[in-house]
Amino acid sequence: METDVRHNPALLKLDLYCRGMRLDDSCHVAEDGGRAVLRTRAGLGSGLELILPGGLWTNVPVSEAFTRSSPYVLHRTLDHYEIRRYPDGGRGNGGGTLNGGRAGTASGPQMKVDRSEPIAAVRLAPRPAWYDRMTSSGKPMTRIGTLQGTYLGVYPARVCEYWTEKPERSNCHFCSVGLNLGVDDAPEKSVDEVMEVVQAARAESGITYVDFNTGHYEGDVYLDILEPYLKRLKRETGLFIGVQTPPHHDLARYDALRKMGVNRVSFCFEIFDEPTFKQVCPGKDREYGLKRYLKAVEYCAGLSKQGDPYEPWVSNGEIIAGLEPPESSIAAIDWITSVGAIPTVCVFRPLAGTDMEDAPPPKTEDLVPIFRRLYEACMERGLPVGAAPDIHVSLVLLPEECRWFSDRPGRYWMKEMRIRAMRAVLRMRLARQSRRARAAAGSAQ
Ligand code: SF4
Repeated sequence: METDVRHNPALLKLDLYCRGMRLDDSCHVAEDGGRAVLRTRAGLGSGLELILPGGLWTNVPVSEAFTRSSPYVLHRTLDHYEIRRYPDGGRGNGGGTLNGGRAGTASGPQMKVDRSEPIAAVRLAPRPAWYDRMTSSGKPMTRIGTLQGTYLGVYPARVCEYWTEKPERSNCHFCSVGLNLGVDDAPEKSVDEVMEVVQAARAESGITYVDFNTGHYEGDVYLDILEPYLKRLKRETGLFIGVQTPPHHDLARYDALRKMGVNRVSFCFEIFDEPTFKQVCPGKDREYGLKRYLKAVEYCAGLSKQGDPYEPWVSNGEIIAGLEPPESSIAAIDWITSVGAIPTVCVFRPLAGTDMEDAPPPKTEDLVPIFRRLYEACMERGLPVGAAPDIHVSLVLLPEECRWFSDRPGRYWMKEMRIRAMRAVLRMRLARQSRRARAAAGSAQ
């Protein structure tokens, strides 16, 4: 594996998740068409969206306390943005005031001598024009949905009820969802509002995928809430759709989602080590328990063999690396892939204001074996990672991006060829579905 971040963009992406970055005064993120730092509803995002070498999209922590000692600093040169690395976390170096530039982040010391080294030329993830528009109901479009990389993320319902329980909330301790209430996100969104934003994002940002996310609601109602959005979105756009909710007790509901044209279901159990799961996710433990999450992941993985063979379907088990020992995260990856599901592995980010804001971020070197195993386990099982076209994800390292951590990536070339062919077929199918949906919408008017 290439160990120099200047030549390994996946390692740079991981290192930036773990160490964060500061913004030099020379940065003019908003003026240069970048996206503002929004606290996203995924509960782990909060950073600056960038595109690294190799086309890897990322969301770099820039607001949290730990980023103040990061060796990485974003600079604006005459014609591009560049990440530079400073020895000793930038202390005692010269070249400007590290105070967060124009996007407004942590402050740093005045510097006299520039001993930094260039690491990578990067691009700001473009802020689409619709980010500055309102829906016809008068809400800012970014309060209905936001781009996370190149897909649209929507959190359509009220805040997760673990945050509002009395006398004591039982939210997951790393989560920031409840902190966002009424700040960056509208509390409830109508189907019409969501459709308006989806259409804008499809027309102007070329999205191919929309991800719906909910927290826990009493009475297992999250799928009831989502279904009107899902049906209309599929009917009118043909886009790929994903759903991330707690595991419904009635597993037949997932058969129905498969028939509806949903393409991805994701279950965030976060932690595979059960005692740690209970401690960090008290609400999830009380209401569902780890076993129910795992059962849902496995059941849904089995549905890939049913239904329309040309409508892709994946089951995801989502974990957070850095909240349990690396061996436990690796065991989770092995279990998830063994049942035919695909792991989504986030990196723990101690977000400002959360119960875990003072916890240290994980160390890059501890996480490398986890992400290496992610790629290899998916390849060994022949899972279709990266088959969905034109989806770049900023909040996690995708399994296919983790090829950069493998010592012998060439050994899976046959499987990678098969995935490439699958992607070409799906791209054609998506284009055909979108054409049909547009024609149907046109004739209905
Ligand atoms: S289930 Fe946990 S992680 Fe998800 S929104 Fe609720 S508190 Fe946050």
